[in-house]
Amino acid sequence: MTDDSTPILIIGGGFSGTLTAIHLLRTTTGQAASITLLDPAAVPGRGLAYRGNDDNLLLNVPAGNMSAFADDPSHFVEFCQQIDPSFNVGSFVSRRLYGRYLQLNLQRAMAANPGRLRLVQDQAHAVHSRPGKDGFTVTLASGRLLAAQHVVLALGHQVPGFPLPLPPKELEKVIEPWDFQRMSQLPGDAPVLILGTGHTAVDALFQLTQQARPRRIWMLSRHGLLPHAHRLNPVPPATSQYPTYLGEAPLRVRTLLRELRKEIARKALAGCDWRDVLNQLRPHTPRLWQAMPLVERQRFLRHGMAFWDIHRHRLAPLSADRLQALKESDEVQVLGGRLTNMRATSRGMLQVQFRPRCQPREQSLEVAAIINCTGPRMSIGSHSSPLLQQLARDGLLVPDPNKLGVLIDDHYQPTCSSGQATPGLWYVGPMLKAQHWEAIAVPELRGHTQRLAQHLARQLAIYPVLPTQAELA
Ligand SMILES: Cc1cc2nc3c(=O)[nH]c(=O)nc-3n(C[C@H](O)[C@H](O)[C@H](O)COP(=O)(O)OP(=O)(O)OC[C@H]3O[C@@H](n4cnc5c(N)ncnc54)[C@H](O)[C@@H]3O)c2cc1C
Repeated sequence: MTDDSTPILIIGGGFSGTLTAIHLLRTTTGQAASITLLDPAAVPGRGLAYRGNDDNLLLNVPAGNMSAFADDPSHFVEFCQQIDPSFNVGSFVSRRLYGRYLQLNLQRAMAANPGRLRLVQDQAHAVHSRPGKDGFTVTLASGRLLAAQHVVLALGHQVPGFPLPLPPKELEKVIEPWDFQRMSQLPGDAPVLILGTGHTAVDALFQLTQQARPRRIWMLSRHGLLPHAHRLNPVPPATSQYPTYLGEAPLRVRTLLRELRKEIARKALAGCDWRDVLNQLRPHTPRLWQAMPLVERQRFLRHGMAFWDIHRHRLAPLSADRLQALKESDEVQVLGGRLTNMRATSRGMLQVQFRPRCQPREQSLEVAAIINCTGPRMSIGSHSSPLLQQLARDGLLVPDPNKLGVLIDDHYQPTCSSGQATPGLWYVGPMLKAQHWEAIAVPELRGHTQRLAQHLARQLAIYPVLPTQAELA
Protein backbone atom coordinates (compact mmCIF):
# COMPACT_ATOMS: atom_id res chain seq x y z
CA MET A 1 0.00 0.00 0.00
CA THR A 2 1.30 3.47 -0.86
CA ASP A 3 0.75 6.40 1.45
CA ASP A 4 0.16 8.87 -1.31
CA SER A 5 0.08 9.24 -5.09
CA THR A 6 1.06 11.95 -7.56
CA PRO A 7 1.00 12.19 -11.37
CA ILE A 8 4.53 13.68 -11.51
CA LEU A 9 7.23 13.29 -8.89
CA ILE A 10 10.45 15.26 -9.28
CA ILE A 11 13.24 13.85 -7.11
CA GLY A 12 15.70 16.64 -6.29
CA GLY A 13 14.88 20.30 -5.77
CA GLY A 14 18.11 21.94 -6.93
CA PHE A 15 18.42 24.00 -10.11
CA SER A 16 17.33 21.19 -12.47
CA GLY A 17 14.39 19.91 -10.41
CA THR A 18 13.13 23.40 -9.60
CA LEU A 19 13.27 24.58 -13.21
CA THR A 20 11.62 21.38 -14.43
CA ALA A 21 8.80 21.98 -11.94
CA ILE A 22 8.37 25.59 -13.08
CA HIS A 23 8.30 24.62 -16.77
CA LEU A 24 5.86 21.79 -16.08
CA LEU A 25 3.52 24.19 -14.30
CA ARG A 26 3.66 26.44 -17.35
CA THR A 27 3.28 23.72 -20.01
CA THR A 28 0.63 21.57 -18.35
CA THR A 29 -1.77 24.38 -17.39
CA GLY A 30 -4.71 22.93 -19.32
CA GLN A 31 -4.06 19.43 -18.01
CA ALA A 32 -4.10 20.52 -14.36
CA ALA A 33 -1.59 17.76 -13.58
CA SER A 34 -0.25 18.13 -10.07
CA ILE A 35 3.44 17.88 -9.34
CA THR A 36 5.41 16.85 -6.25
CA LEU A 37 8.92 18.21 -5.70
CA LEU A 38 10.95 16.10 -3.28
CA ASP A 39 14.12 17.37 -1.61
CA PRO A 40 15.80 17.02 1.78
CA ALA A 41 15.96 20.83 2.14
CA ALA A 42 13.20 22.58 4.08
CA VAL A 43 12.95 25.17 1.30
CA PRO A 44 14.03 23.74 -2.05
CA GLY A 45 15.36 25.69 -5.02
CA ARG A 46 19.01 26.30 -4.26
CA GLY A 47 20.62 22.85 -4.54
CA LEU A 48 24.30 22.33 -3.91
CA ALA A 49 25.70 25.25 -5.89
CA TYR A 50 23.53 28.10 -4.61
CA ARG A 51 22.72 27.15 -1.02
CA GLY A 52 25.61 28.99 0.69
CA ASN A 53 25.46 32.32 2.48
CA ASP A 54 28.94 33.54 1.61
CA ASP A 55 28.72 36.64 -0.58
CA ASN A 56 32.39 36.21 -1.51
CA LEU A 57 31.63 33.10 -3.56
CA LEU A 58 30.72 34.44 -6.97
CA LEU A 59 29.00 32.96 -10.00
CA ASN A 60 31.50 31.95 -12.65
CA VAL A 61 29.17 33.06 -15.45
CA PRO A 62 28.25 36.74 -16.05
CA ALA A 63 24.74 37.73 -14.95
CA GLY A 64 23.69 38.25 -18.57
CA ASN A 65 24.02 34.51 -19.24
CA MET A 66 22.47 33.27 -15.98
CA SER A 67 18.78 33.76 -16.68
CA ALA A 68 16.93 30.66 -15.56
CA PHE A 69 14.85 30.94 -18.75
CA ALA A 70 16.47 30.55 -22.18
CA ASP A 71 13.60 32.47 -23.81
CA ASP A 72 13.97 35.45 -21.44
CA PRO A 73 17.73 36.23 -21.40
CA SER A 74 17.53 39.41 -19.30
CA HIS A 75 15.39 37.82 -16.57
CA PHE A 76 18.22 37.44 -14.03
CA VAL A 77 19.84 40.82 -14.79
CA GLU A 78 16.46 42.52 -14.21
CA PHE A 79 16.14 40.69 -10.89
CA CYS A 80 19.65 41.91 -9.89
CA GLN A 81 18.88 45.47 -10.97
CA GLN A 82 15.92 45.58 -8.62
CA ILE A 83 18.47 45.10 -5.81
CA ASP A 84 21.18 47.35 -7.24
CA PRO A 85 20.63 49.27 -10.51
CA SER A 86 24.38 49.26 -11.20
CA PHE A 87 24.37 45.52 -11.97
CA ASN A 88 24.62 44.79 -15.69
CA VAL A 89 24.99 41.85 -18.09
CA GLY A 90 28.72 41.64 -17.35
CA SER A 91 28.41 41.62 -13.54
CA PHE A 92 29.52 38.59 -11.54
CA VAL A 93 27.17 38.42 -8.58
CA SER A 94 27.17 36.05 -5.62
CA ARG A 95 25.91 32.49 -5.74
CA ARG A 96 23.86 33.30 -2.64
CA LEU A 97 21.92 35.89 -4.65
CA TYR A 98 21.36 33.37 -7.42
CA GLY A 99 19.93 30.92 -4.87
CA ARG A 100 17.50 33.60 -3.76
CA TYR A 101 16.51 34.19 -7.39
CA LEU A 102 15.75 30.48 -7.89
CA GLN A 103 13.68 30.27 -4.73
CA LEU A 104 11.75 33.39 -5.66
CA ASN A 105 10.92 31.95 -9.08
CA LEU A 106 9.68 28.76 -7.48
CA GLN A 107 7.49 30.71 -5.04
CA ARG A 108 6.06 32.81 -7.87
CA ALA A 109 5.28 29.74 -10.00
CA MET A 110 3.51 28.15 -7.02
CA ALA A 111 1.52 31.29 -6.32
CA ALA A 112 0.44 31.48 -9.98
CA ASN A 113 -0.69 27.82 -9.94
CA PRO A 114 -2.33 27.36 -6.56
CA GLY A 115 -2.46 23.78 -5.31
CA ARG A 116 -0.61 22.31 -8.29
CA LEU A 117 2.89 21.98 -6.82
CA ARG A 118 3.46 20.22 -3.53
CA LEU A 119 6.79 20.30 -1.72
CA VAL A 120 7.85 17.22 0.24
CA GLN A 121 10.88 17.35 2.51
CA ASP A 122 12.38 13.86 2.36
CA GLN A 123 14.80 11.75 0.38
CA ALA A 124 14.08 8.98 -2.13
CA HIS A 125 15.80 5.67 -1.42
CA ALA A 126 14.30 3.50 -4.16
CA VAL A 127 12.14 3.75 -7.29
CA HIS A 128 10.44 0.55 -8.44
CA SER A 129 8.22 0.00 -11.48
CA ARG A 130 4.80 -1.19 -10.34
CA PRO A 131 4.24 -4.74 -11.58
CA GLY A 132 1.11 -4.98 -13.69
CA LYS A 133 0.37 -1.26 -13.26
CA ASP A 134 1.67 1.93 -14.76
CA GLY A 135 4.08 4.19 -12.90
CA PHE A 136 6.34 3.71 -9.92
CA THR A 137 6.44 3.18 -6.20
CA VAL A 138 8.98 5.43 -4.52
CA THR A 139 10.38 4.56 -1.10
CA LEU A 140 11.40 7.56 1.00
CA ALA A 141 14.03 7.73 3.76
CA SER A 142 11.25 8.36 6.29
CA GLY A 143 9.67 5.04 5.35
CA ARG A 144 6.79 6.65 3.45
CA LEU A 145 5.81 5.26 0.06
CA LEU A 146 4.72 7.45 -2.85
CA ALA A 147 3.07 6.25 -6.05
CA ALA A 148 3.94 8.33 -9.11
CA GLN A 149 2.96 8.04 -12.73
CA HIS A 150 6.06 9.93 -13.90
CA VAL A 151 9.34 10.23 -12.00
CA VAL A 152 11.92 12.87 -12.93
CA LEU A 153 15.39 12.19 -11.52
CA ALA A 154 17.12 15.52 -10.83
CA LEU A 155 19.62 14.29 -8.28
CA GLY A 156 22.54 16.62 -9.00
CA HIS A 157 26.17 15.84 -8.30
CA GLN A 158 27.85 13.01 -6.44
CA VAL A 159 30.84 13.57 -4.17
CA PRO A 160 34.29 13.05 -5.74
CA GLY A 161 36.21 9.81 -5.63
CA PHE A 162 39.61 9.57 -3.91
CA PRO A 163 42.62 8.38 -5.92
CA LEU A 164 43.95 6.05 -3.16
CA PRO A 165 42.34 3.45 -0.88
CA LEU A 166 41.27 5.10 2.38
CA PRO A 167 41.69 3.09 5.62
CA PRO A 168 39.54 4.44 8.50
CA LYS A 169 42.27 6.55 10.18
CA GLU A 170 43.17 8.29 6.92
CA LEU A 171 39.51 8.63 5.90
CA GLU A 172 38.87 10.70 9.05
CA LYS A 173 41.23 13.36 7.73
CA VAL A 174 39.69 13.68 4.28
CA ILE A 175 37.07 16.41 3.97
CA GLU A 176 34.47 16.52 1.21
CA PRO A 177 34.73 19.59 -1.05
CA TRP A 178 31.48 21.26 -0.04
CA ASP A 179 31.77 20.62 3.69
CA PHE A 180 32.65 24.21 4.67
CA GLN A 181 31.62 23.53 8.23
CA ARG A 182 34.34 20.91 8.75
CA MET A 183 36.87 23.15 7.00
CA SER A 184 36.06 25.98 9.40
CA GLN A 185 36.57 23.67 12.37
CA LEU A 186 40.22 22.98 11.44
CA PRO A 187 42.70 24.78 13.70
CA GLY A 188 43.48 28.20 12.20
CA ASP A 189 47.14 27.41 11.54
CA ALA A 190 46.76 23.76 10.49
CA PRO A 191 48.50 22.99 7.16
CA VAL A 192 46.13 21.59 4.55
CA LEU A 193 46.39 19.89 1.17
CA ILE A 194 43.67 20.66 -1.37
CA LEU A 195 43.56 17.84 -3.87
CA GLY A 196 42.51 19.40 -7.18
CA THR A 197 42.97 22.86 -8.69
CA GLY A 198 39.58 23.49 -10.35
CA HIS A 199 36.66 25.66 -9.24
CA THR A 200 35.77 23.53 -6.21
CA ALA A 201 39.39 23.67 -5.07
CA VAL A 202 39.36 27.46 -5.40
CA ASP A 203 36.15 27.57 -3.30
CA ALA A 204 37.87 25.47 -0.62
CA LEU A 205 40.93 27.72 -0.74
CA PHE A 206 38.80 30.84 -0.22
CA GLN A 207 37.04 29.15 2.67
CA LEU A 208 40.32 28.11 4.32
CA THR A 209 41.91 31.53 3.96
CA GLN A 210 38.99 33.42 5.53
CA GLN A 211 40.57 33.18 8.95
CA ALA A 212 43.07 35.82 9.99
CA ARG A 213 45.87 33.40 10.90
CA PRO A 214 47.96 32.35 7.91
CA ARG A 215 48.38 28.64 7.29
CA ARG A 216 50.29 26.59 4.72
CA ILE A 217 48.06 25.35 1.92
CA TRP A 218 49.17 23.18 -0.96
CA MET A 219 47.00 22.60 -4.01
CA LEU A 220 47.88 19.49 -5.98
CA SER A 221 46.55 18.24 -9.31
CA ARG A 222 48.10 16.21 -12.11
CA HIS A 223 48.92 19.29 -14.21
CA GLY A 224 48.81 21.94 -11.47
CA LEU A 225 46.66 24.16 -13.72
CA LEU A 226 44.27 26.76 -12.31
CA PRO A 227 41.21 28.14 -14.14
CA HIS A 228 41.75 31.21 -16.30
CA ALA A 229 39.90 34.45 -15.56
CA HIS A 230 36.94 36.00 -17.32
CA ARG A 231 37.44 39.49 -18.67
CA LEU A 232 36.03 42.40 -16.70
CA ASN A 233 32.45 43.10 -17.78
CA PRO A 234 32.25 40.56 -20.59
CA VAL A 235 29.26 40.79 -22.91
CA PRO A 236 27.44 37.44 -22.93
CA PRO A 237 27.84 35.67 -26.26
CA ALA A 238 25.17 36.30 -28.86
CA THR A 239 23.57 33.07 -30.07
CA SER A 240 25.98 32.05 -32.74
CA GLN A 241 25.89 29.95 -35.85
CA TYR A 242 27.95 26.77 -36.10
CA PRO A 243 31.55 27.97 -36.70
CA THR A 244 32.37 27.59 -40.38
CA TYR A 245 36.14 27.24 -39.77
CA LEU A 246 35.44 23.72 -38.45
CA GLY A 247 33.72 22.50 -41.61
CA GLU A 248 32.00 19.18 -40.84
CA ALA A 249 32.20 18.28 -37.13
CA PRO A 250 35.77 16.88 -36.84
CA LEU A 251 35.97 13.19 -35.96
CA ARG A 252 39.35 13.52 -34.27
CA VAL A 253 40.31 15.52 -31.19
CA ARG A 254 43.60 16.50 -32.76
CA THR A 255 41.83 18.06 -35.78
CA LEU A 256 39.40 19.93 -33.56
CA LEU A 257 42.13 21.39 -31.35
CA ARG A 258 44.30 22.29 -34.36
CA GLU A 259 41.46 24.18 -36.05
CA LEU A 260 40.60 25.87 -32.77
CA ARG A 261 44.18 27.06 -32.27
CA LYS A 262 44.29 28.40 -35.85
CA GLU A 263 41.04 30.30 -35.31
CA ILE A 264 42.31 31.77 -32.04
CA ALA A 265 45.48 32.94 -33.82
CA ARG A 266 43.42 34.48 -36.68
CA LYS A 267 41.12 36.22 -34.19
CA ALA A 268 44.10 37.48 -32.14
CA LEU A 269 45.46 39.19 -35.28
CA ALA A 270 42.08 40.92 -35.61
CA GLY A 271 42.34 42.07 -31.98
CA CYS A 272 39.86 39.52 -30.56
CA ASP A 273 40.24 37.47 -27.41
CA TRP A 274 40.52 33.64 -27.31
CA ARG A 275 37.53 33.64 -24.96
CA ASP A 276 35.30 34.81 -27.81
CA VAL A 277 36.28 31.77 -29.88
CA LEU A 278 35.38 29.41 -27.03
CA ASN A 279 32.14 31.28 -26.34
CA GLN A 280 31.13 30.92 -29.97
CA LEU A 281 31.86 27.19 -29.84
CA ARG A 282 29.96 26.51 -26.60
CA PRO A 283 26.43 25.94 -27.98
CA HIS A 284 27.88 23.57 -30.60
CA THR A 285 30.00 21.46 -28.26
CA PRO A 286 27.33 18.71 -27.94
CA ARG A 287 27.29 18.30 -31.73
CA LEU A 288 31.11 18.02 -31.81
CA TRP A 289 31.13 15.57 -28.88
CA GLN A 290 28.43 13.38 -30.42
CA ALA A 291 30.27 13.25 -33.77
CA MET A 292 33.40 11.79 -32.16
CA PRO A 293 33.82 8.04 -31.91
CA LEU A 294 34.29 6.55 -28.43
CA VAL A 295 38.05 6.20 -28.83
CA GLU A 296 38.42 9.92 -29.63
CA ARG A 297 36.26 10.94 -26.68
CA GLN A 298 38.53 8.82 -24.50
CA ARG A 299 41.59 10.48 -26.03
CA PHE A 300 40.12 13.87 -25.18
CA LEU A 301 39.43 12.79 -21.58
CA ARG A 302 43.03 11.56 -21.19
CA HIS A 303 44.93 14.36 -22.87
CA GLY A 304 42.69 17.36 -23.54
CA MET A 305 40.27 17.69 -20.66
CA ALA A 306 42.53 19.42 -18.10
CA PHE A 307 43.45 22.12 -20.65
CA TRP A 308 39.89 22.43 -21.94
CA ASP A 309 38.48 22.87 -18.42
CA ILE A 310 40.76 25.74 -17.38
CA HIS A 311 39.93 27.68 -20.54
CA ARG A 312 36.22 26.89 -20.68
CA HIS A 313 35.32 27.11 -16.97
CA ARG A 314 36.68 30.51 -16.04
CA LEU A 315 36.76 32.44 -12.77
CA ALA A 316 35.01 35.73 -12.11
CA PRO A 317 37.64 38.52 -12.38
CA LEU A 318 37.43 39.35 -8.66
CA SER A 319 37.88 35.70 -7.71
CA ALA A 320 40.84 35.44 -10.09
CA ASP A 321 42.46 38.50 -8.46
CA ARG A 322 41.92 37.03 -5.01
CA LEU A 323 43.44 33.74 -6.16
CA GLN A 324 46.43 35.53 -7.67
CA ALA A 325 47.07 37.43 -4.43
CA LEU A 326 46.99 34.19 -2.44
CA LYS A 327 49.36 32.52 -4.90
CA GLU A 328 51.79 35.41 -4.52
CA SER A 329 51.68 35.11 -0.74
CA ASP A 330 53.78 32.51 1.08
CA GLU A 331 50.61 30.84 2.22
CA VAL A 332 49.63 28.94 -0.91
CA GLN A 333 51.64 26.74 -3.25
CA VAL A 334 50.23 25.11 -6.38
CA LEU A 335 51.82 21.80 -7.35
CA GLY A 336 51.59 19.57 -10.42
CA GLY A 337 51.93 15.89 -9.63
CA ARG A 338 50.29 12.67 -8.53
CA LEU A 339 49.37 11.60 -5.01
CA THR A 340 51.13 8.27 -4.42
CA ASN A 341 50.70 7.46 -0.74
CA MET A 342 49.43 8.75 2.58
CA ARG A 343 49.35 7.54 6.17
CA ALA A 344 48.07 8.88 9.47
CA THR A 345 50.92 9.67 11.89
CA SER A 346 51.04 9.20 15.67
CA ARG A 347 50.89 13.02 16.01
CA GLY A 348 47.41 13.14 14.47
CA MET A 349 48.65 14.41 11.11
CA LEU A 350 48.76 12.94 7.60
CA GLN A 351 52.06 12.13 5.90
CA VAL A 352 51.40 12.61 2.20
CA GLN A 353 53.67 11.43 -0.63
CA PHE A 354 53.38 12.75 -4.16
CA ARG A 355 55.37 12.48 -7.37
CA PRO A 356 55.88 15.91 -8.95
CA ARG A 357 55.09 16.07 -12.64
CA CYS A 358 57.97 14.87 -14.87
CA GLN A 359 60.22 14.17 -11.87
CA PRO A 360 61.44 10.75 -10.77
CA ARG A 361 61.68 11.44 -7.01
CA GLU A 362 58.71 11.57 -4.69
CA GLN A 363 58.24 14.39 -2.20
CA SER A 364 56.32 14.45 1.05
CA LEU A 365 54.18 16.90 3.00
CA GLU A 366 52.69 16.79 6.46
CA VAL A 367 49.14 18.12 6.68
CA ALA A 368 46.26 18.14 9.14
CA ALA A 369 43.66 17.34 6.48
CA ILE A 370 43.08 16.83 2.76
CA ILE A 371 40.18 18.57 1.05
CA ASN A 372 39.09 16.26 -1.75
CA CYS A 373 38.34 18.46 -4.77
CA THR A 374 39.03 15.95 -7.54
CA GLY A 375 35.67 16.64 -9.24
CA PRO A 376 32.22 15.09 -8.82
CA ARG A 377 31.94 11.42 -9.71
CA MET A 378 29.73 10.69 -12.69
CA SER A 379 29.93 6.89 -12.50
CA ILE A 380 27.54 4.76 -10.46
CA GLY A 381 29.02 2.36 -7.90
CA SER A 382 29.29 1.60 -4.20
CA HIS A 383 30.07 5.31 -3.62
CA SER A 384 26.64 6.32 -5.00
CA SER A 385 23.44 7.06 -3.10
CA PRO A 386 21.16 4.10 -2.29
CA LEU A 387 18.77 5.39 -4.98
CA LEU A 388 21.36 5.51 -7.77
CA GLN A 389 22.70 2.09 -6.80
CA GLN A 390 19.22 0.58 -6.84
CA LEU A 391 18.32 2.14 -10.20
CA ALA A 392 21.56 0.82 -11.73
CA ARG A 393 21.10 -2.61 -10.14
CA ASP A 394 17.58 -2.88 -11.55
CA GLY A 395 18.81 -1.87 -15.00
CA LEU A 396 16.75 1.35 -15.05
CA LEU A 397 19.92 3.45 -15.34
CA VAL A 398 22.80 2.28 -17.49
CA PRO A 399 26.21 3.98 -17.06
CA ASP A 400 27.85 5.29 -20.23
CA PRO A 401 31.15 3.71 -21.31
CA ASN A 402 33.20 6.82 -20.39
CA LYS A 403 31.76 6.94 -16.84
CA LEU A 404 30.50 10.46 -17.50
CA GLY A 405 26.89 9.75 -16.63
CA VAL A 406 24.08 7.50 -17.77
CA LEU A 407 22.54 6.67 -21.14
CA ILE A 408 19.61 8.96 -21.92
CA ASP A 409 17.60 9.26 -25.14
CA ASP A 410 16.79 12.51 -26.97
CA HIS A 411 13.62 12.91 -24.90
CA TYR A 412 15.44 12.83 -21.53
CA GLN A 413 14.40 9.26 -20.76
CA PRO A 414 17.12 6.96 -19.43
CA THR A 415 17.54 3.91 -21.64
CA CYS A 416 17.51 0.69 -19.64
CA SER A 417 19.64 -2.42 -20.14
CA SER A 418 17.45 -3.59 -23.06
CA GLY A 419 18.14 -0.26 -24.82
CA GLN A 420 14.55 0.94 -24.42
CA ALA A 421 13.29 3.83 -22.33
CA THR A 422 11.19 2.95 -19.28
CA PRO A 423 7.83 4.70 -19.73
CA GLY A 424 7.44 7.44 -17.16
CA LEU A 425 11.11 7.67 -16.05
CA TRP A 426 13.04 10.88 -16.86
CA TYR A 427 16.45 12.35 -16.06
CA VAL A 428 17.89 15.87 -16.07
CA GLY A 429 21.14 17.13 -14.56
CA PRO A 430 24.92 16.87 -14.74
CA MET A 431 24.92 13.25 -15.93
CA LEU A 432 23.73 14.55 -19.31
CA LYS A 433 27.45 15.18 -19.78
CA ALA A 434 27.73 11.66 -21.20
CA GLN A 435 25.58 12.67 -24.20
CA HIS A 436 26.38 16.37 -24.51
CA TRP A 437 29.72 16.99 -22.76
CA GLU A 438 28.69 20.62 -22.21
CA ALA A 439 25.73 20.06 -19.88
CA ILE A 440 26.48 20.91 -16.28
CA ALA A 441 26.02 24.69 -16.06
CA VAL A 442 22.96 26.93 -16.07
CA PRO A 443 23.19 28.09 -19.73
CA GLU A 444 22.77 24.44 -20.82
CA LEU A 445 20.64 22.98 -18.00
CA ARG A 446 17.94 25.66 -18.37
CA GLY A 447 17.32 24.48 -21.96
CA HIS A 448 17.33 20.81 -20.95
CA THR A 449 14.77 21.37 -18.18
CA GLN A 450 12.47 23.23 -20.55
CA ARG A 451 12.69 20.57 -23.26
CA LEU A 452 12.15 17.76 -20.75
CA ALA A 453 9.00 19.48 -19.48
CA GLN A 454 7.72 19.81 -23.06
CA HIS A 455 8.27 16.09 -23.79
CA LEU A 456 6.67 15.06 -20.50
CA ALA A 457 3.67 17.35 -21.02
CA ARG A 458 3.21 15.93 -24.52
CA GLN A 459 3.20 12.38 -23.13
CA LEU A 460 0.71 13.38 -20.45
CA ALA A 461 -1.58 14.87 -23.11
CA ILE A 462 -1.38 11.81 -25.37
CA TYR A 463 -1.41 9.16 -22.66
CA PRO A 464 -3.24 10.27 -19.51
CA VAL A 465 -2.32 6.74 -18.37
CA LEU A 466 1.23 5.58 -19.08
CA PRO A 467 1.75 3.58 -22.30
CA THR A 468 3.26 0.11 -22.17
CA GLN A 469 6.64 -0.62 -23.80
CA ALA A 470 4.74 -2.33 -26.66
CA GLU A 471 2.59 0.75 -27.29
CA LEU A 472 5.67 2.95 -27.41
CA ALA A 473 7.62 0.65 -29.77
C1 LIG B 1 29.78 24.76 -6.25
C2 LIG B 1 29.18 24.93 -7.61
C3 LIG B 1 29.17 26.18 -8.20
C4 LIG B 1 28.60 26.34 -9.46
N1 LIG B 1 28.58 27.58 -10.04
C5 LIG B 1 28.01 27.75 -11.24
C6 LIG B 1 27.93 29.04 -11.85
O1 LIG B 1 28.44 30.01 -11.31
N2 LIG B 1 27.31 29.16 -13.05
C7 LIG B 1 26.78 28.07 -13.69
O2 LIG B 1 26.23 28.23 -14.77
N3 LIG B 1 26.85 26.84 -13.14
C8 LIG B 1 27.43 26.67 -11.94
N4 LIG B 1 27.47 25.42 -11.37
C9 LIG B 1 26.89 24.32 -12.12
C10 LIG B 1 25.36 24.18 -12.04
O3 LIG B 1 24.65 25.33 -11.80
C11 LIG B 1 24.97 23.15 -11.08
O4 LIG B 1 25.65 21.99 -11.39
C12 LIG B 1 23.44 22.96 -11.12
O5 LIG B 1 23.00 23.73 -10.07
C13 LIG B 1 23.02 21.52 -11.08
O6 LIG B 1 21.69 21.48 -10.68
P1 LIG B 1 21.02 20.11 -10.24
O7 LIG B 1 19.65 20.41 -9.87
O8 LIG B 1 21.25 19.11 -11.31
O9 LIG B 1 21.85 19.66 -8.96
P2 LIG B 1 21.72 20.31 -7.50
O10 LIG B 1 21.49 21.76 -7.62
O11 LIG B 1 22.87 19.84 -6.72
O12 LIG B 1 20.39 19.68 -6.91
C14 LIG B 1 20.20 18.33 -6.69
C15 LIG B 1 19.22 18.23 -5.53
O13 LIG B 1 18.75 16.89 -5.46
C16 LIG B 1 18.69 16.52 -4.10
N5 LIG B 1 18.73 15.04 -4.05
C17 LIG B 1 19.73 14.22 -4.43
N6 LIG B 1 19.39 12.94 -4.23
C18 LIG B 1 18.12 12.97 -3.74
C19 LIG B 1 17.22 11.93 -3.33
N7 LIG B 1 17.56 10.64 -3.40
N8 LIG B 1 16.01 12.30 -2.85
C20 LIG B 1 15.65 13.61 -2.78
N9 LIG B 1 16.46 14.62 -3.17
C21 LIG B 1 17.69 14.29 -3.62
C22 LIG B 1 19.89 17.18 -3.47
O14 LIG B 1 19.75 17.28 -2.07
C23 LIG B 1 19.87 18.54 -4.18
O15 LIG B 1 19.10 19.48 -3.48
C24 LIG B 1 28.05 25.23 -10.13
C25 LIG B 1 28.08 23.98 -9.54
C26 LIG B 1 28.64 23.81 -8.28
C27 LIG B 1 28.65 22.45 -7.67
